[in-house]
Amino acid sequence: MVKIMTQLMTEDGIRCDGRRLDELRNISIKVGVLKNADGSAYIEFGKNKILAGVFGPRDVHPKHMANPDSGILRCRYHMSPFSVTERKNPAPSRREIEISKVIKEALQPAVILKDYPRTVIDVFIEVLQADGGSRCAALDAAAVALADAGIPMRDLVSACAAGKVADRIVLDVNNEEDQEGQADMPVALMPNMGNITLLQLDGILKPEEFKTCMQTALVGCKRVYEVQRKALMEKYFQNGEQ
Ligand code: ADP
Repeated sequence: MVKIMTQLMTEDGIRCDGRRLDELRNISIKVGVLKNADGSAYIEFGKNKILAGVFGPRDVHPKHMANPDSGILRCRYHMSPFSVTERKNPAPSRREIEISKVIKEALQPAVILKDYPRTVIDVFIEVLQADGGSRCAALDAAAVALADAGIPMRDLVSACAAGKVADRIVLDVNNEEDQEGQADMPVALMPNMGNITLLQLDGILKPEEFKTCMQTALVGCKRVYEVQRKALMEKYFQNGEQ
């Protein structure tokens, strides 16, 4: 099969989807979309389409997983078979198991679990369409769904990736850039407290590039936070204002 390489960037820094180096894809978030969940959110992050549902606090099954001193958080990130161009096996892949783990670890510092001993808060994430950066978009929806469920939180969690494409540092890596670029670095931030709760790097960056990439991702996280905040305001304050 002949693989046609996409031109990732023009000379003047315009990316394959028409964005500038520091431009996010369009993001929209809708809160409270699932009637059976305690909290939920639907996010469109570029072409990513992801649903997050939160259930709990509720009894833990199996019981031996319960913690008598605190609630526990469980996360499942799942890609639907039709979410990518070739059918994805619906059974959980190593990648989905890894992403479920990092999403849980990225959310956990923000969630106050000590008031809910012996219970679990389940976060289910269904990726309906994936287009690069789905773990960040999933985290963004999950954090909003937790807030929608009324779970006490220290802060929201806002995630966005930055990366290196055609030797330039770019914000919010899309699928082509992820596949053919030089580095992809997803970052999650508790935007008001300043804690970084997720940092992964696929690729190689020089120390200076790493610093720029981190600053770029953090700017992206703060912009994502504004969208998350607005989405929650829209549901809980009729005119969307405080
Ligand atoms: P992320 O979605 O967080 O960037 P990866 O870097 O692992 O995670 O994946 C990048 C992109 O590759 C995904 O968003 C998706 O578009 C695509 N992808 C992931 N898994 C598959 C798969 N099994 N088949 C086809 N495409 C996939």
